[in-house]
Amino acid sequence: MANRFRARNGLTLMELLLVLAILSLLAAILLPIFSTVKSGMRKTRCQTNLLQFAHAFRMYAEDWAGRWPAPGGRRGEWNYWDPRLEVYLPGERTMDSVWCCPTLTKWKCQWPPRSYTMNSYLRTPWDVDPWTKCIYIQNGIKPKQIPFPKETILLFEGHGDWGRNDVYRCGNWEVARGWPPNKVGPAHSGKDNFLFCDGHVQLLTIWETLEPENLWYIRRFRPGLGD
Ligand SMILES: [Zn+2]
Repeated sequence: MANRFRARNGLTLMELLLVLAILSLLAAILLPIFSTVKSGMRKTRCQTNLLQFAHAFRMYAEDWAGRWPAPGGRRGEWNYWDPRLEVYLPGERTMDSVWCCPTLTKWKCQWPPRSYTMNSYLRTPWDVDPWTKCIYIQNGIKPKQIPFPKETILLFEGHGDWGRNDVYRCGNWEVARGWPPNKVGPAHSGKDNFLFCDGHVQLLTIWETLEPENLWYIRRFRPGLGD
């Protein structure tokens, strides 16, 4: 009877249960590995995006007398950094383009998709606090004027207002992902990618950008330079 059952169905009930147990064990082992690989790929793609922005900023400065675009200004679209860089970056601005970290899944805003934000202090005059007078400053900075380019943030993974699916165009650490009062957490396992003014990209926690040294201001709080 048992042999006939096996011949007709291929597997006995016990064998089937054993196969299922092995499959679920394999799934339990492999799924976390797949998810780690996937999040590693997202992180790498985000870093590659930022490196393309580094190249775009370099080319922009070559065309505009050594000056970068201002992070933002009052007089319309052309005074923001992002439309000015479009010509130096490949393809259309979509969710799959260099403009977005792959961890950004939604975009609901009048502007084209973008998950990166420019450091507001990169203006002339520099180090003016956002939300106050900086919006009146239309002038971008010359990268040669930055005394510590390796330690000064240029672009970072930003967020928008609470509950909205957009990202501020410029700002300081208060609009970075991972800043504690915000609801939007860090993009990559507790850390975010930061592009620095010398063109390198680094994965850091928000705290590592503030202490022991503030990596947002150009001069202020840097030893030996004073205010
Ligand atoms: Zn990212």
